[in-house]
Amino acid sequence: MRTIKGLTVATHCDSAMAGRMRIGADWETGTSGEFLEIMSPATGERVGYVPLATREDARRAVAAAQAARERIAGLSVWERSRLCGAVADVIDSRREELARLLCLEQGKPYHAEALGEVAAAATGFRVAGEQIKWLESASFPVEDRNKRAFSFLQPKGVFAVITPWNFPMALPSIYYLGPGLATGNAMVWVPAPTTSLVATKLTECLEAAGVPDGVVNLVTGDGPVVGDEIVASPGTDAIAFTGSSETGQAIATRGAGKPLLLELGGNGPTIVLEDADPRITAERIAAGCFTNAGQICTSTERILAHAAIHDALVEELVRVAGKIRMGDAFDAATTMGPLNNAPSAAKVDQHLADAVARGAKVMTGGGRAANLATPLHYQPTVVTSVTTDSLLNKEETFGPVAPVLRFETEDEARRLALSSRLGLSASIFTATIRHAFRWAEWLKVGIVNINEMCPYWEMHIPAGGAAGTRSGLGRTGGRHTLLEMSDLKTVTIDISR
Ligand code: NAD
Repeated sequence: MRTIKGLTVATHCDSAMAGRMRIGADWETGTSGEFLEIMSPATGERVGYVPLATREDARRAVAAAQAARERIAGLSVWERSRLCGAVADVIDSRREELARLLCLEQGKPYHAEALGEVAAAATGFRVAGEQIKWLESASFPVEDRNKRAFSFLQPKGVFAVITPWNFPMALPSIYYLGPGLATGNAMVWVPAPTTSLVATKLTECLEAAGVPDGVVNLVTGDGPVVGDEIVASPGTDAIAFTGSSETGQAIATRGAGKPLLLELGGNGPTIVLEDADPRITAERIAAGCFTNAGQICTSTERILAHAAIHDALVEELVRVAGKIRMGDAFDAATTMGPLNNAPSAAKVDQHLADAVARGAKVMTGGGRAANLATPLHYQPTVVTSVTTDSLLNKEETFGPVAPVLRFETEDEARRLALSSRLGLSASIFTATIRHAFRWAEWLKVGIVNINEMCPYWEMHIPAGGAAGTRSGLGRTGGRHTLLEMSDLKTVTIDISR
């Protein structure tokens, strides 16, 4: 039995449950005759099948995008803005249906998280459609009295878009599809295999809103096959990718020479100084660790606590972790869902076992939750005495784990903060503004939240990896994504004749 990212490859499927790909004007199941069987991490039931596309399918999608590029680039900015608004309206009108599928396929609880993610996807299209209307470019004073010079923004052309499974509805919408449409690009989109049914539904929303055929093409399947094909293809002009640092590295190599917008992994340190309030700090840190079951690129991945506050903070973290409820994904009382897929859960197991072998102490949780619908449910976990050489500290865990490291001096805290090569987000908890600012300016990350959890973000705020880390390239957020997805063209005019 062949599996991809924990999903079984099937040679037939119940057509009533088949997701489809969209290439140009057509909805289709591709040329391989193979499908991926999507099982719900929340309930264990079969949710459906998605086509396992071939490189040839991906090449056809690139050709369809090339054929459509003028169709979207030729619309006025106001027309593209209205198109984004129309997509948002369709998403809103299908909110419950989309949230239900998101809950089943990704695993996140329907009430606590899935409904909100669908709303965020709609807002993502609205924000892109609004911001593009007010994005001005410059004219330039010049030396020659017979010349005039100005610049304007143009689409880059055809974007290869590859996305992960943690926010399969909101992330593609906010990061790439909304801004891509607003800036006039055609796109070929490869979503993560485990959340490709959600991608199919989102693509249906784009069609229903009147996005021209071929402007957004959906190809489902194995990333190293179809993702690799669209990255390396001479038919794509630029690459937008969100996923792990390792895959980002591979993509940067395969797509060398093309503009890259890479949003990669994080290992956000949260620094808790001795004058922070343990109770409020623990509430916020726990939200940063356990929201989306810890599967956020900017999750609170490690907590560096001053020795004077360490014990009180840990006690509060254990208390807050105890309030989290797992269970029926459609019950309003459920606050945390399972991990999305088996390889992710195995990675959390591995990181915890490694930490414990190096002397860490599990204060609560520590493994899979028993008696739930699937073994992908993980207990909210608090671990102390984590050593710097452990995987929990050095690498991204991407699960509901709060690893705590103790420090005595600021120098020691800085050494701990630097002991991971990732640099996406961080937070500082303190009552002293000058300490907060010193840390904020010093930390090598793209976004620092003071007295707030690491993943706090609003979709018009720039975020991304710091230079010299393995967390990415470029910035997403509002006008910053629009600029990343555009080319600045300068025109000089001679007015002497
Ligand atoms: P992943 O890198 O395994 O996969 C991401 C996507 O890349 C998937 O669609 C996958 O099919 C595709 N892919 C895999 N190998 C490929 C290849 N060789 N060529 C082209 N495409 C390929 O990551 P994941 O496990 O799906 O997602 C979790 C990761 O994403 C975490 O590291 C997380 O931090 C990161 N992430 C980052 C952000 C951000 O904004 N920085 C946001 C969300 C998630």
